[in-house]
Amino acid sequence: MTILHIGFDDTDSPSGGCTTYLCAKLVELLSLLNVDFIDYPLLIRLNPNVPFRTRGNAALCLRIKIDNDLENKVKQIVLNEIKRGAELAFKNTNPGIVFYKGKTVPDIITKFSKKTIQDIVMIDKALKIAKNVGAEIFTFKNARGIIGALAAIGTLLDNDHTYELITYRTPENCGKPRKLDIKSVRNMDSNTSPNTFCNLDDGRILITPHGPDPILYGVRGNSAEIVYAANSMVKSLEPIERWVIYRTNQGTDAHLRFFPSISQVRPYSCVIINGIVSSKHKTISGGHVIIQIKDHTGVIDCAAYEPTGEFREIIKNLIPGDLVRVYGGVRPASSYHPITINLEKIEILKLATLEVKFNPKCPQCGKSMTSAGKNKGFKCKKCGLKLKEAEKTTLKISRNITEKLYLPPPRAHRHLTRPLERINKATKKSETMFTPWHYP
Ligand SMILES: [Zn+2]
Repeated sequence: MTILHIGFDDTDSPSGGCTTYLCAKLVELLSLLNVDFIDYPLLIRLNPNVPFRTRGNAALCLRIKIDNDLENKVKQIVLNEIKRGAELAFKNTNPGIVFYKGKTVPDIITKFSKKTIQDIVMIDKALKIAKNVGAEIFTFKNARGIIGALAAIGTLLDNDHTYELITYRTPENCGKPRKLDIKSVRNMDSNTSPNTFCNLDDGRILITPHGPDPILYGVRGNSAEIVYAANSMVKSLEPIERWVIYRTNQGTDAHLRFFPSISQVRPYSCVIINGIVSSKHKTISGGHVIIQIKDHTGVIDCAAYEPTGEFREIIKNLIPGDLVRVYGGVRPASSYHPITINLEKIEILKLATLEVKFNPKCPQCGKSMTSAGKNKGFKCKKCGLKLKEAEKTTLKISRNITEKLYLPPPRAHRHLTRPLERINKATKKSETMFTPWHYP
């Protein structure tokens, strides 16, 4: 017997195609060969901040156990299906496929995966590692897909992970408006949330994508059982060709990592960093809100973009002196703006005291007093009273924000962003597989 890990990436384009759909088709073709799937299909989201990325920035992995004599047949099926389904005509679609044979995945690949999810990596590095570990690779065009393909194999999801049940449309419906019974989605949400998440945003349906791809909808949740149950509550008004339950790093914050100081922040990385607000906010054209934070090593801009909606009001309420922890992807400097953290969330650790000082009231007539000159106290212009010992009155202003974690609304989340429903929660790996797919 052989354990074969199959990773692939970068087959779609803005005008169509979908790497998960290719995966769903492969599941069917390989099932017909009676191969033994040793894990759910894996849907791995990579660093969302890299400049060259696919539409959903997702890479896929299948892990199977097969008789040795099936190996070549399996590889042939995978290659044919990806060649047939990839949007090769699109300039920026550069598919990559990796086959790795082995009971366990070498550390060098898992480390590479972590870097691919949190940072930026080069094609050469992926090619070198694949060669070192004896992985077999197939690349098309500039080979960029090899990065995600290898990263998907190396993402074990032994710790926190989530599930997504994705349903696919029949070919004749692709490109047409998606037809779902909206009430059934609301019903599903009220019955399964918070074990499912990001179904709705203020009553608006989030489970359907908007592109021309073959996905009808996807339900995200903490277990395969819950996404399966949730799916049975959603009423589709068009036929569903097939569905697959993926195990995934979505909703886990896998892309973010703690940086001890601002000076260490690099473009394209995904950071968690503490700082003290050092400027009042400013709103720039387009409705984006910018603040600056500082620590003992430097200052950096943080941006809450227009699509984050009411989240911007939180940022506008920050004042210099507030201690915050910011989470987000780092945008390099350009001629228009300095290096900037695109805020995905913010935790207010300690609010500064906001107070205003004003002159005391005259104890004799109640009128506001005025300064009598430096160190000379105050005088009343109305009745002439002078008070040498009087001081300004301090009034503490209550803040409109509190010391807690704030996130933008779900519609503005990254796939990888841990939603509020999952704060302080982690899914443990299950030893058994639960009804992972259905095909026609
Ligand atoms: Zn007076």
